[in-house]
Amino acid sequence: MRIEADRDLCVGSGTCEFLAADVFQVGEDGVVRVLRPQPGQAAAAVRDAVAQCPTGALGLADW
Ligand code: SF4
Repeated sequence: MRIEADRDLCVGSGTCEFLAADVFQVGEDGVVRVLRPQPGQAAAAVRDAVAQCPTGALGLADW
């Protein structure tokens, strides 16, 4: 599983960072950065973050 983030859709809500702080970070530019594209043990939290992103900016791709 690999995380994909569309930075053009991100509005910087911080929801993903709240749910999986070791995977997502909202930078000073107000846009999400994916710290760990392959979440490993954080997969459950990442799926929750993807589901709760208010703009649909996050997605998961299979390898
Ligand atoms: S939850 Fe979505 S809109 Fe909010 S910071 Fe994360 S990627 Fe951006």
